[in-house]
Amino acid sequence: MANQYDIVVVGAGPAGLMVSQIAAKKGLKVLLVDQKKDIPKILRSCCCNLIIEPGTHKEVVTYSSGEIRFQNNNFVVPYAGSVIPLKNSFKVSPGGQALTIKGKSPEGNVAISYEKEALVNGLFSIVQKNKNIEILCGLQAVKAENVKGGVKVTFRDREKNFTFEGKVAVAADGVNSKVVETLGLNEKRRKFFARFRVCSFHMENVDCPYPDSWITFVGTGHTRTKRGQLYMCPKPHEGITDPPVYELTLGVPVAATVEAVSTRDELDYFTTKGRFSGWFKNMKIVDVRAATLNFYTPLINPIEGNVVVVGDSAAFIETYVQGAMMYGFQAGNAIVKYLSTGSGLEDYADAWKESFEYNDPEEIKRASQGFGLHVLKDHDIDYLFGLTRGDDIRGYVNEFSDPITTRTALLSHLDQIKKERPELGAVLEKFSQVSVDDALQVDSRKKKH
Ligand SMILES: Cc1cc2nc3c(=O)[nH]c(=O)nc-3n(C[C@H](O)[C@H](O)[C@H](O)COP(=O)(O)OP(=O)(O)OC[C@H]3O[C@@H](n4cnc5c(N)ncnc54)[C@H](O)[C@@H]3O)c2cc1C
Repeated sequence: MANQYDIVVVGAGPAGLMVSQIAAKKGLKVLLVDQKKDIPKILRSCCCNLIIEPGTHKEVVTYSSGEIRFQNNNFVVPYAGSVIPLKNSFKVSPGGQALTIKGKSPEGNVAISYEKEALVNGLFSIVQKNKNIEILCGLQAVKAENVKGGVKVTFRDREKNFTFEGKVAVAADGVNSKVVETLGLNEKRRKFFARFRVCSFHMENVDCPYPDSWITFVGTGHTRTKRGQLYMCPKPHEGITDPPVYELTLGVPVAATVEAVSTRDELDYFTTKGRFSGWFKNMKIVDVRAATLNFYTPLINPIEGNVVVVGDSAAFIETYVQGAMMYGFQAGNAIVKYLSTGSGLEDYADAWKESFEYNDPEEIKRASQGFGLHVLKDHDIDYLFGLTRGDDIRGYVNEFSDPITTRTALLSHLDQIKKERPELGAVLEKFSQVSVDDALQVDSRKKKH
């Protein structure tokens, strides 16, 4: 066959680059294809915090001296960029009260901010040097099919279609995976929750009162549509960390953006007219990024025939960058074993099932309740955050543990709340019953596929 490869990898993000690298190192012939013309150029929003809480995805991920280390899987990824250790996580209410979570790591960090470009650039240069890998840029996958003896993947550029065949194909084309969609897996095996639109500003000259911190703006009073999640943190920008560039990100459920204003308009409003606009009066926007996120439940079994689904393609929202690399590492090794022994893909599937938290539906509920403080009234959030002033709260930036850290901090004041605001106390006690749709601020009647 003219176009026969061992593996056709769709998507050269952290997951696809990792699979390609592992497989090619063991001698497999890899075709790596991405729709972008310039692979290391990052177009999508990504806050790019290294999640250092031990146990995340059953791993312990650390950064030191130019390496990201995966302790349990026993591999390292070189990272030649800069980092900014984040010392605190502040949750800021519409009235300006802050709930402060201090870093729980031995170094006192909640997370480490790094630069996705630098990481992807490093992974891409390793892949480029390997002669077993052929790279095609500017081709978009439109279809994948299991065929006799392997997989056929169809790509297109502006003018025509191209078909390549491999013994195995890897879907690493991100959260809105076309490969997963065309295999029918979104229909057969996943539940759709919502579509979010995301926009991010990268800004110089921000006068931020919370340096070296992850900041979440909680409550409905920050945006005109009264919906959405707003985050901010300092980022290395083209290797420079001082003065910091801040990334401000807003994600809004689609129904709200259709009804009203775009996410970019909302960010303009927040930075020029919102309560915290004073922080931004001298700011200069150096980059704007965006993303669309379809929230599906994860693929509990990430294998379909000879297609292996890796990274965000298989996830509920995200695996994080580090998860994409870790699952890419595991999938690459499993494919090598499969092609030499006839079995082994299940190694990867089993590891995924056990370690990806969102495979447990309860975890989806718990994590989305992290967003769910929005179901409280803004003045209640002001009151609650005000109660935590002076508390010694420790934790990490991590969507799995942060809702628990926050809830525990608020509930430690439950007696006082029940005395002073009995209705609010009752709401807080029942907080675990908030539905995923309510927590995500999605009107289930207006869900859009
Ligand atoms: C707002 C936001 C904040 C985030 N914050 C963090 C954070 O703080 N820390 C963290 O670790 N992670 C964060 N993430 C998640 C992180 O970005 C992803 O989990 C990670 O990038 C997943 O890697 P991936 O390789 O699976 O997919 P991606 O990085 O999305 O890569 C997919 C690749 O596939 C290509 N592609 C897509 N479709 C096709 C197609 N049809 N044909 C060919 N190529 C295609 C794309 O061009 C891209 O190169 C965040 C994400 C968002 C949206």
